[in-house]
Amino acid sequence: MASYQDAIDRIVAGNRVYAQKTTEKDPNAFVELSKGQAPEILWIGCADSRVPETTVCDCQPGELFVHRNIANTVHADDINVASVVEYAVAHLKVKKVVVCGHTKCGGANAALGDADLGVTLNTWLHPVREIRRKNKTELEKLPDDDARAVRIAELNVHQGIEVLKQHPAIKKAMNDHGLSLHGLIYDIGRGQLRLLEEAGAKKSNGLWSPN
Ligand SMILES: [Zn+2]
Repeated sequence: MASYQDAIDRIVAGNRVYAQKTTEKDPNAFVELSKGQAPEILWIGCADSRVPETTVCDCQPGELFVHRNIANTVHADDINVASVVEYAVAHLKVKKVVVCGHTKCGGANAALGDADLGVTLNTWLHPVREIRRKNKTELEKLPDDDARAVRIAELNVHQGIEVLKQHPAIKKAMNDHGLSLHGLIYDIGRGQLRLLEEAGAKKSNGLWSPN
């Protein structure tokens, strides 16, 4: 890829390359995509630029329905995430819902302290900071802030799943057709996903120890 001074020029040129390569590989690729979508997975992840789910999971457009926000946080009163969940679960009928946190997460890291980030970010991160307060003893035993941020990311994923279990569309889909919920952590430094827990159709795999 040539270097571009302007970031917008860069993405428009990148798109031309993508469209051309995709069509060369499969002349019908875009025709097929334009017919509709039937993703099997709803991915709730962090907005971090280093965790683009379709890329890191080696998926194709159409495979993952996506909601991303700061620190992949699921608030019970957030109509944004709730509407994505309702559409994905009740209308697209995804089979799995994934909440993915990650290492080196700026949101999880910010939740290690109480620095004033501005009213919106302070409000948004409040539940993640509450996780830190509730798990103070466990977190203090960890060797460093990196380890603490990863543990907060794990606990935040677990909490997100607990909130999702209360969503009416998810409750119904779990009962009706075995929708399952899965927690993941993506390790940015290794490029690898780690499964934390499964809830729903399958029982916990034992890797998760809620406290
Ligand atoms: Zn993050």
